[in-house]
Amino acid sequence: MSESVSTRESLARERVRIVLVGTQHPGNIGAAARAMKTMGLARLVLVAPEKAPDRDTVAMAAGADDLVEAAPVFDTLADAVADCALVLGCTARSRRVQLEQLEPAEGAARALAFAAQGPVALVFGRERTGLDNNELQLCHASIHIPSDPDFSSLNLAAAVQVLSYEVRVAALGGEGGRPAAAAAVVASGEGPAPHQELEGFFAQLAQTLDAIDFHKGRTPDSAMRKLRRLYLRAGLGSAEIRLLRGVLADTQRMAMLAGRTGGEQDSRSD
Ligand code: SAH
Repeated sequence: MSESVSTRESLARERVRIVLVGTQHPGNIGAAARAMKTMGLARLVLVAPEKAPDRDTVAMAAGADDLVEAAPVFDTLADAVADCALVLGCTARSRRVQLEQLEPAEGAARALAFAAQGPVALVFGRERTGLDNNELQLCHASIHIPSDPDFSSLNLAAAVQVLSYEVRVAALGGEGGRPAAAAAVVASGEGPAPHQELEGFFAQLAQTLDAIDFHKGRTPDSAMRKLRRLYLRAGLGSAEIRLLRGVLADTQRMAMLAGRTGGEQDSRSD
């Protein structure tokens, strides 16, 4: 990346979104806001918090409650990241969901590199149960803080602190200048598509696979997870998604025609 430190700092402030999903303790929302503000981040987003921000939130925010007041609240993670160029999910343990796993510094560098193209989201889960598999599937990759495997779960706000710190280091020139991070930004040259375009593509892909009987009685979940991982890794741009959806539309049309012909043959053989 060739941006100056001040440009990267404002990208971090304006474009790097910290998304807290289903937070159970209002105090943690305040502590997360404080962690962000100390590191120059400003965009806090809440998804269906179990309890609304309250006095504990304000107390723990210790002067960062402006971030909480400005935080939009969404019903679902998909809505919260619909316009994002990159979505990274922070997990305390690796799961069966097959996602590329990044170190915090790598994730922060990638987030900042993509921030030049659009909003990016660092997503954090519930205190008790973390992010569920459907939520993780919305992510392009996961970030794991390499904690002790025998005691791997950080307090939510502590995890936000680690990631916010890494974004700041990247903004100040450490990881942000890494060629690998810049190279991760879309090969197509047009910039990454907003997340909702990818989800539209995945929905049509799932319908098409059904239409061509790809799964043959197996459950579609495993194949869809692998296909999601593949296309998410590709860093598709909007024009590329339009092209792929054109291919799918023709595939669906041919499957329908073949179904009709097949139906005629069936009726002939009656
Ligand atoms: N028991 C939960 C832990 C949730 S901790 C679980 O096993 O998933 C709350 C959130 O903090 C997590 O969802 C995650 O977003 C973040 N977090 C905690 N420890 C982390 C770690 N080691 N690496 C990355 N994120 C972590």
